[in-house]
Amino acid sequence: MRIDVFSIFPEYLGPLDLSLIGKAREAGLLDLRVHDLRDYAHDRHRTVDDTPYGGGAGMVMRPQVWGEALDAAAADRPGGVLVVPSPAGEPFTQAIARDLAARDRLLFACGRYEGIDQRVFADAGRHFEVRLLSLGDYVLNGGEVAALAMIEAVGRLLPGVVGNPESLAEESHENGLLEAPVYTKPAEWRGLSVPEELLSGHHARIARYRRDESLRRTAEVRPDLIAALDARTLDAHDLQV
Ligand code: SAM
Repeated sequence: MRIDVFSIFPEYLGPLDLSLIGKAREAGLLDLRVHDLRDYAHDRHRTVDDTPYGGGAGMVMRPQVWGEALDAAAADRPGGVLVVPSPAGEPFTQAIARDLAARDRLLFACGRYEGIDQRVFADAGRHFEVRLLSLGDYVLNGGEVAALAMIEAVGRLLPGVVGNPESLAEESHENGLLEAPVYTKPAEWRGLSVPEELLSGHHARIARYRRDESLRRTAEVRPDLIAALDARTLDAHDLQV
């Protein structure tokens, strides 16, 4: 997969050199390029923002700079999904991460200030599928942290990035539920025991325990996920939990 990230703070994307994503880049599984948006601003101060039409506080990112950057990206390699992190976007989910992981090219446009001039998105639609995606119902200072989170969520789904693909299938949000709590050695720690089902060595019992805990935890903290479950995926025991 090829990913291009545009930001006025390219150093913010430094963590993408680390851990599994860094290794995926080294192994050639992910071709990730970070671009300084200011390279596309041509005045003496390399200005990327201007005052908002209609007045109000803050500054807005100029369309000319973004237009030039995205034209260059399209000329370099046409097509792909342009992700625009935005608190006004569609909520980013594991299902969207899976969809993006199946594409061969993604671009991230990291906004700052009050955001990017809206016309940039209509114009970018000539080259890319444009998606405004929100990390959650709160406001960050810029799109870089959101891009980091989304790239990590997408990158770990690419074949070969996570050592054991089975661990991905069992994770929270993959089947509409949160994963059951996890434990490691020792079996007793500070007077606290690992649930005996997990020590039983009995596969069916362990699977049942995990499923029950997963349902309980989800019902407690995310009743919205329980309400969205397809009843056909629930067995008789599930309904008693
Ligand atoms: N004025 C904008 C609004 O109220 O919708 C907020 C702008 S915010 C200060 C600057 C940039 O941070 C945004 O353009 C976006 O790139 C990023 N950002 C802020 N919150 C975000 C969130 N919840 N999800 C994704 N990106 C976010």
